[in-house]
Amino acid sequence: MNKHNFSAGPSILSEYTIKNSAAAVIDFEGTGLSILEVSHRGKEFVAVCDEARARIKKLLDVPAGYEVVFLGGGASLQFCMVPFNLLNRKASYLDTGTWASNAIKEAKLFGEVDVVASSKDANYTFIPKNYRVGEDSDYFHFTSNNTIYGTEMRYDPDCGNGVRLVCDMSSDIFSRPVDVSKYDIIYAGAQKNLAPAGVTLAIVREGSLGHVERAIPTMLDYRTHIKKESMFNTPPVFPIFAALQTLKWYKELGGLEAIEKMNLEKAAILYDEIDRNRLFRGTVATEDRSIMNVCFVMNDEYKDMEADFGAFASAAGMVGIKGHRSVGGFRASLYNAMPKSSVEALISTMKTFEKQH
Ligand SMILES: *Cc1c(COP(=O)(O)O)cnc(C)c1O
Repeated sequence: MNKHNFSAGPSILSEYTIKNSAAAVIDFEGTGLSILEVSHRGKEFVAVCDEARARIKKLLDVPAGYEVVFLGGGASLQFCMVPFNLLNRKASYLDTGTWASNAIKEAKLFGEVDVVASSKDANYTFIPKNYRVGEDSDYFHFTSNNTIYGTEMRYDPDCGNGVRLVCDMSSDIFSRPVDVSKYDIIYAGAQKNLAPAGVTLAIVREGSLGHVERAIPTMLDYRTHIKKESMFNTPPVFPIFAALQTLKWYKELGGLEAIEKMNLEKAAILYDEIDRNRLFRGTVATEDRSIMNVCFVMNDEYKDMEADFGAFASAAGMVGIKGHRSVGGFRASLYNAMPKSSVEALISTMKTFEKQH
């Protein structure tokens, strides 16, 4: 049966990525070797890594003065690497969910952290607005898409006072155009919109580095990885190869504007059904709804049907729609690689279930 993969991460990859990656596992670019066994220093893989970084720059229109690096350790290591490299005295953070609060916890190890606003008391069902970022902050950190709660900031926040911006874009990078020039660091674990798990990308403004007093361990210093073009140590070779395939596919789709348009359409038809269908309701403030992770629950009078709908959807080929334990209900992740036809299949499952009850 045709499976529709709505998993939150690792998550759906394009057929193009999977087919080319599978072929390279057997024979990597005519070398007679598998991508799984080649040297990262061989010219074929160095070319892959360079092309992937160049395509990221092109796709996101990364201005001069920035470098793209591939790192290990997941987005979670960036929670510590960012303050290690940027925090002198004080940093400001916006608390919009589990990942944001994990980032806050790490930053506190390095200096004072001003949590400018939090929606924790409302179980992160909205994005706080009208907060103020002090100009004495070394940077302002936010999470553009809250993967677990299904809220998103599809805009570049403007602190209005020149404070550096740092963003965790793990679950919405490449889903829309971004003005990179407004940021000092953007980072993203690859396993939501780019590649299999194992690689993290960071886009770093070089001028933001070198301003902290503390000693930085070599592996945790962005400058190491910039200088060595992501080859200081052995990089995750296979995930980087797969990332390159996805980047080629994004170009074929027409770039980030075309991709954003598709994402908006996919999210709109699903939210429309959630709002229309008497069995379901969305869990977050309408204006903050994520186009990547759509969270919904059964309406109160139908609460006891949750397990039934889960089983019904699963029998219809829906995979990974169970909500995160901190929200409950359901979460359909509609990353770039998710075809509209799969979203339509989920909608039709919701309609059929409604008719039967
Ligand atoms: C998945 C995710 C993370 C965690 O990524 P790891 O690679 O597992 O460390 C962090 N932030 C956001 C927004 C995420 O979606």
